[in-house]
Amino acid sequence: MFRALVLRRDGKEPPVASVDELSEKDLPEGDVLVRVDYSTLNYKDGLCLQGQGGLVRTYPHVGGIDFSGCVEESAHKDFKAGDRVVLTGWRVGEVHWGGYAQKARVNGDWLVALPDSISTRAAMLVGTAGFTAALALGALEDHGVTPASGPVLVTGAAGGVGSVALILLARCGYRAVALTGRAHESDYLKGLGAQEIMPRDDLLKTPHRPLESETWAGAIDTVAGKVLEGVLPRMAYGASVCAVGLAAGAKIETTVIPFLLRGVNLLGIDSVMCPREKRSEVWSRIEKDLSFDRLEAAASQIGLEQVPAYAKEITAGRVRGRVLVDVNA
Ligand code: NDP
Repeated sequence: MFRALVLRRDGKEPPVASVDELSEKDLPEGDVLVRVDYSTLNYKDGLCLQGQGGLVRTYPHVGGIDFSGCVEESAHKDFKAGDRVVLTGWRVGEVHWGGYAQKARVNGDWLVALPDSISTRAAMLVGTAGFTAALALGALEDHGVTPASGPVLVTGAAGGVGSVALILLARCGYRAVALTGRAHESDYLKGLGAQEIMPRDDLLKTPHRPLESETWAGAIDTVAGKVLEGVLPRMAYGASVCAVGLAAGAKIETTVIPFLLRGVNLLGIDSVMCPREKRSEVWSRIEKDLSFDRLEAAASQIGLEQVPAYAKEITAGRVRGRVLVDVNA
């Protein structure tokens, strides 16, 4: 038997979560059984736990869109008992049962073998948020952004993706600018590596013409909505913007002028269905370029029982940095 945070739902009522004892027979099908060490709390977990976004369709359900741990049994050619693995994406925690349990059974194709120097705990300090931040930085660089190009803006900077993006950018020599609604968290953001803090209202209060002065060479945008509307006219010639998230809403109202007159690129970032080969590359980069000491300073740790309360906090924009879930606490 093992412990899991199980979601049950009655009709349209919000789901109810409880920590229950399950047996391996309860787990979904898959060719690898993993003893989970850690999971995390991401924005999407917040939505799943509250029954929002239409992400979870069948109940009972075990959430947790990422996890790290050790292989217990494997019928997959690439994994054997004892291997340390990490999983992000593939709609685990949404369609398939996820990491808020001491055991998970999944398709081995979804797992990545952890690089030697990354512990299972460190892997979840990174988690989906950090993996996505690294994917976004790679996309900017693939489109020609370098530290010499100019400052790179990170929106939703005090959140999970934003915090790891700042750490990565600073470590790779970029001038990172943090756009935040929490200017009182300036010391935290500077500690991660932000060289400049821009209060969100400073961007939002000014009306945007189709082109404003060229300010940033790159941007990692986790919030979209009015913020992205304000960012696009301020991008420098040839700059690239990664569209990562929608914490401020999915709709944007803009013009094509920055694309036509400044050659600005808007790059879509998807971590969920990211191909396997690319994932190993991204984890190797994380191993090389992430400052794990700084990441530790951006993290808090909770147990399974605390996850439902934190889920409400993260969708309200009140969680700072990364939240590690110790499923064995
Ligand atoms: P967090 O909640 O940790 O961070 C989101 C941040 O956005 C908040 O901390 C806050 O930053 C800012 N924010 C929140 N609400 C608003 C608002 N109404 N208006 C403006 N800013 C707001 O979430 P994550 O970092 O886990 O995820 C961020 C986004 O990225 C989510 O939309 C998520 O779904 C998406 N995502 C996408 C992935 C992909 O593959 N494309 C993968 C992972 C995440 P501050 O306080 O600094 O202003």
